[in-house]
Amino acid sequence: MPRARPTSTSASPGWNRSPRGFFKASEWELEDAEEESVAIITNRAPRCFVTEHGRLTGMRFDKVEHELDPSGRITAERVVGEEFLPADDVILAIGQENAFPWIERDLDIEFDQWDVPVIDKMTFQSRRPGVFFGGDAAFGPKNIIWAVEHGHQAAISIHRHCHGEPITTRLPPRINLQSRKMGMHEWSYANDYSPLERRLMPHVSLKERFKKLNIEVELGFTAEQVEQEVQRCLNCDVQTVFVAKLCIECDACLDICPVDCLTITHNGAEAQLRTRLKAPARNLAQPLYVSAALPQTGRVMVKDEDLCVHCGLCAERCPTAAWDMQKSELHWPYAVDEAAHCAAQKPKSA
Ligand SMILES: Cc1cc2nc3c(=O)[nH]c(=O)nc-3n(C[C@H](O)[C@H](O)[C@H](O)COP(=O)(O)OP(=O)(O)OC[C@H]3O[C@@H](n4cnc5c(N)ncnc54)[C@H](O)[C@@H]3O)c2cc1C
Ligand code: SF4
Ligand code: SF4
Repeated sequence: MPRARPTSTSASPGWNRSPRGFFKASEWELEDAEEESVAIITNRAPRCFVTEHGRLTGMRFDKVEHELDPSGRITAERVVGEEFLPADDVILAIGQENAFPWIERDLDIEFDQWDVPVIDKMTFQSRRPGVFFGGDAAFGPKNIIWAVEHGHQAAISIHRHCHGEPITTRLPPRINLQSRKMGMHEWSYANDYSPLERRLMPHVSLKERFKKLNIEVELGFTAEQVEQEVQRCLNCDVQTVFVAKLCIECDACLDICPVDCLTITHNGAEAQLRTRLKAPARNLAQPLYVSAALPQTGRVMVKDEDLCVHCGLCAERCPTAAWDMQKSELHWPYAVDEAAHCAAQKPKSA
């Protein structure tokens, strides 16, 4: 998004050729800019700088409108007018598009309608075996975390390809679970639920910011504030693990659960089951946990993870240890794991 330093008569605007919903910046980044009086002007494609007597006076823009396909992707841009915006200085912040003019089109690397290579989402292989893509070049602009993950996945494919192994056969991710119980009411994680609201990051005052343009705007938290912030952690890595055959249906866990996310009931169709819970499960994006049939009555234990605050009270109260709080560790295989696995599969020779 190009940005102009304020002229004597205007505030500092930022221009973007697309509508706000298509910006690469997060909403909070835009709000931070607006806090600094940056007026965000959308649907303006830069055409040229305008100078008078060798001095910049502003920029001329095409006013554009966009056509979207049913999935909401921009398919076409139409110029509907033009506009001159005055400026003393212009700072360019450009994003770049993928371009592959250097790849010959007779190599069997297929390109789609956006002229980017067609890549398999699991193996990162193009339509030409042995040619792999990752990062922004594979699926367009994302971020560094995705680029690194693409690299890991492509490395697995390359390793298997070089060893003549099928690249679609890969080690699955694994989860290890380990109880956190240390005593009757003692867990090796902080299980107190903190209802504190998320703390807003303190910022340097606007006056100070404009006086010194090279200072960090976010001041950070004090040690005491950090201590309070981490107490809001819901311990998502500590899972409630249920063993149906141990449950005697005493209802103690249902009574103690502070958010009513546990129910013992007859099983049934999911849509109907969701309405029969102690607290109806309305977030359809969150699957329900439904146990195996309980030994006493054949009913099931249902848990709505959407509400659970991982306090461990169900596991503390349960007289038979049917509930336990267990730390989960996710093991996501890398190429080195594939290599060790392939080596272990090979027949040993004396
Ligand atoms: C302005 C901006 C801000 C961003 N901020 C963040 C951020 O805060 N956090 C975040 O996670 N991500 C951010 N991103 C996204 C992040 O930078 C990218 O997702 C990431 O760098 C992609 O990594 P990559 O290895 O796929 O590609 P790149 O990092 O772009 O690396 C590709 C490399 O290939 C080289 N190259 C290109 N063509 C050829 C060729 N023909 N021959 C040889 N070499 C070639 C390029 O010079 C480049 O060095 C930002 C991106 C932009 C543009
Ligand atoms: S961990 Fe706490 S919130 Fe979650 S089910 Fe058990 S008692 Fe309820
Ligand atoms: S407290 Fe334990 S035994 Fe009682 S209903 Fe809950 S899981 Fe079953």
